[in-house]
Amino acid sequence: MASGREKVISILDASAVLPIRPPVRPLFGLKNEQLSELAAELAVPAYRARQLAQALYRDWAATLDDITTLPQSLREKLTRAGYSIALPEIAETFKSIDGTERYLIATADGQTVETVWMPEGDDGEEGDGSDAGDEEASGHHDATICVSSQIGCAVNCQFCLTAKLGIIRNLTAGEIAGQVVTVLKRHNARIGRDRINLVFMGMGEPFLNYDAFMDAVRLLVDEVCIAESRMTVSTSGIVPGIERFAAEPVRPKLAISLNASNDKVREEIMPITRKWDIGDLMDAVRKLPLRPRERVTFEYVLLGGVNDQPKHAAEVVRLIRRANLPAKVNLIAWNPGPGIPYAMPSAEDVTRFQQHLIDNGIPAFIRRPRGRDIYAACGQLKQTVEV
Ligand code: SF4
Repeated sequence: MASGREKVISILDASAVLPIRPPVRPLFGLKNEQLSELAAELAVPAYRARQLAQALYRDWAATLDDITTLPQSLREKLTRAGYSIALPEIAETFKSIDGTERYLIATADGQTVETVWMPEGDDGEEGDGSDAGDEEASGHHDATICVSSQIGCAVNCQFCLTAKLGIIRNLTAGEIAGQVVTVLKRHNARIGRDRINLVFMGMGEPFLNYDAFMDAVRLLVDEVCIAESRMTVSTSGIVPGIERFAAEPVRPKLAISLNASNDKVREEIMPITRKWDIGDLMDAVRKLPLRPRERVTFEYVLLGGVNDQPKHAAEVVRLIRRANLPAKVNLIAWNPGPGIPYAMPSAEDVTRFQQHLIDNGIPAFIRRPRGRDIYAACGQLKQTVEV
């Protein structure tokens, strides 16, 4: 019989993931070099590749016919060769009373992936949300988009609805970056004018789809022109991924989905701990070269009676002190989901936990649940259509 550790290893095996079946020749997602190769293949001048990049990533063209900078003959040639833009499309929208919107975004192979728009940020990644503006008054957007990296997830965190899906498949770089552009288009957002943050905290574990995730980041930084300092990626603790990430010249900020103060509790709620325990995780995080003023975020989902007591807060303080790095903690009161056997923490326990961290010099923020009524809050993304 497989041991717990072997079982964890087998669920993380990429061969268990469905192969990606993208549409015939999608243009959205191609890097500059690939667009240049395409121009060469079609025997058109190199500047046509730059025009295509402009149309795809900055003008957000929906169809080849929209790219009027290209001659019609070239657009026809691309169509005949099987190319289409293939920007993902919103199949369904769920609107929360708090302004949050959750989208089911259709992929070309008939799957759906979830993306969430949170106006006025998400209270967590830029600090305490105190600089959030009034969109209506200013005409500007101040928003955070929560982006998925896989359809489903293999990591099996016990408090998470997405885990119930298992892993269906990895997303491509175009499908990851495409979620962002599709949502920006819906809100007529403008890069440069609007303050848009990205959090890679939707469905999936980004570091188990590392190459596509980082390709998407580079497209979003280099082509769509969103600064990497406005992006945060969250990992459940995939140590080899954190080590690769530490060597990236351009990278989002890092958030660790910690959720427990010791290995015993963490193994219960996050079986991935059997493969990489908290010690392994902290060793890897310590190696991340931080930029000036950068802090590592530790996300901590509070589960009533499981990890929300004063002794747990004291252990978190010790863990972070021992790690000896600039850090902050985002506390998230667990969002209930059908079939998940946990209780919400009491408001008093949440406040007491936060105060303990603050009293010990660790910045700690309570994240306001966003879109809980439409299954858009943390750990609730499961392609739910009944709300
Ligand atoms: S919390 Fe994140 S890593 Fe864990 S199962 Fe859910 S989507 Fe996967």
